[in-house]
Amino acid sequence: MTRRARLPMAATEKHSPERTCIGCMKRDRKDAMIRLAVIDDQVAPDFEGKQTGRGAYLHRTSQCLERFVKSKAKEFRSLRRAVERRERIEIAQTIKVRLDRETRVE
Ligand SMILES: [Zn+2]
Repeated sequence: MTRRARLPMAATEKHSPERTCIGCMKRDRKDAMIRLAVIDDQVAPDFEGKQTGRGAYLHRTSQCLERFVKSKAKEFRSLRRAVERRERIEIAQTIKVRLDRETRVE
């Protein structure tokens, strides 16, 4: 006989927190997005959402990745730091590779 464990996390699932996408600037559920974190003074995608500190969110779509790359904003408030165009292209590329891998059915 197995005992059913009570999951304290279950209560939070109903109210998924919302974040603003730095691509389209729209608010959406956090789990529809990818987190970007500042790691060792570098902005990098935080796929597992385990990095602490400042973070920004981006939709998991190529449109929002494009918007982020082309954005005229020099600094992102959520990251409190400027992100060079070159850096953005790299970030978008890393996320795209990851998304392609995730959508592939094995
Ligand atoms: Zn978006």
